[in-house]
Amino acid sequence: MAQKQTSPGTQKISNYIMMIILIVLVLSVVSIILAVSVYMNGVSTPQAGTDDLTAGFLAVIGLIALSMSMFTLYQSRRQAAEMKIEIPKVMTTVECKKCGTKTVREFQRGDYVYKDLDACPKCPDTKQLITAVYKEIKEKEKTYNV
Ligand SMILES: [Zn+2]
Repeated sequence: MAQKQTSPGTQKISNYIMMIILIVLVLSVVSIILAVSVYMNGVSTPQAGTDDLTAGFLAVIGLIALSMSMFTLYQSRRQAAEMKIEIPKVMTTVECKKCGTKTVREFQRGDYVYKDLDACPKCPDTKQLITAVYKEIKEKEKTYNV
């Protein structure tokens, strides 16, 4: 139940961050445009010195904001990609004790070691048994012996 609650919550937060990044991005572009226009106007007016300072100040703010938002965007994208990879896949090994047929499938709700399953396709009188439940990511079978 806790997992169902956290996943839409993190989605909401990432959308919120994305909105802030977009706003900062727009503001930085606006300040760079302003800086350019102030610099262009400053060339023709007598007070060129102070206008140059304003233009430079705006350009620096714009560039810092632009690089910060780009960096945050890159970081959040990378985090999202890492989270996708880190989801462990749980596998279940199903074995027939009579003929020894071994099948590996994805973990299903209610699976546990030594649980009887449906009859073996080769020998209908024998039930298949779950012999192992493990995480695929480690590529190491963890068998729970009873
Ligand atoms: Zn069998």
